[in-house]
Amino acid sequence: MIRDRLLQLRNTLPAGVELVAVSKFQPNEAIMEAYRAGQRIFGESRPQELAAKAAELPKDIRWHLVGHLQTNKIKLILPVVELIHSVDSLHLARAIDQEAEKIGRTVDILLQLHIAREESKFGWRAGDLEQLLQQKAFEPFTHLRPRGLMGMATYTDDTGQIEQEFADLEATYLRFRERYFPSFDTLSMGMSGDYPLALRHGTTLVRIGTDLFGNR
Ligand SMILES: *Cc1c(COP(=O)(O)O)cnc(C)c1O
Repeated sequence: MIRDRLLQLRNTLPAGVELVAVSKFQPNEAIMEAYRAGQRIFGESRPQELAAKAAELPKDIRWHLVGHLQTNKIKLILPVVELIHSVDSLHLARAIDQEAEKIGRTVDILLQLHIAREESKFGWRAGDLEQLLQQKAFEPFTHLRPRGLMGMATYTDDTGQIEQEFADLEATYLRFRERYFPSFDTLSMGMSGDYPLALRHGTTLVRIGTDLFGNR
C-alpha cells in the first residue's frame, strides 16, 4: 500500500530532508492515496502532465517539475509550479524569468548540474555554470529565486561511483552558496535506487517515485 510505503519512507528521512513524491505516469487515485496519508509535495517530469493533474487535484498540493523543461512549455506550468528543479541553460532561465514577470510572480528554481557519466542526462558542468556565475549572468533575472542545485547520479550498481558524484555535487553546492548565493537552502539529489547515499551527502530534497508508487 502506498500509505504504508510512505510512512516507512518518512521514517528513514532525517529531519530537514523533504520528500518529493514523484508521481509521473501515476493515476490521480495513487496521488490521492499519498495525499490522504499527508504527502503534499509531488513531482512530475512532463509539463503537460503536471498542468493537467494540478487542474484536477487539491489546490494545496505543491507541484515540483523534476524533468526537462522546454521554453514553449513554461506557460503551462508557471501558474501552478512551486519549484522547477531542472533549469539547465541561461536561455531557459531567461525565458522563465520573462514569463514570471508577465504573470506577476517570482519563481523558485534549482540549477541542474550534470554529475552522471551518461551523456544523456541534462545539466550544466559545474565549471561552465561557475563561469556564468562569475559573470553575474543570473543577476538580471529579477523574477527568479535560485534556491539550490539538482543532480542525477549515474544509473549503476557501483555505489562508490554514485557516492563520489553526490559528494562532488555537495561540494559544488557549498562552494556556490559561499561565493554566489548565500540564500541557497536546497540540494535536490537521491531517487529510489540511490537516496540512502544522497542522505550521507547533505541532500535536503529526495525525489522518490518507484519506492513509493511501485513500478511505472
Ligand atoms: C522519475 C524521476 C525520479 C524518480 O525516480 P524513481 O527511481 O522512480 O524514484 C526522480 N528524479 C527525476 C528527475 C525523475 O525523472
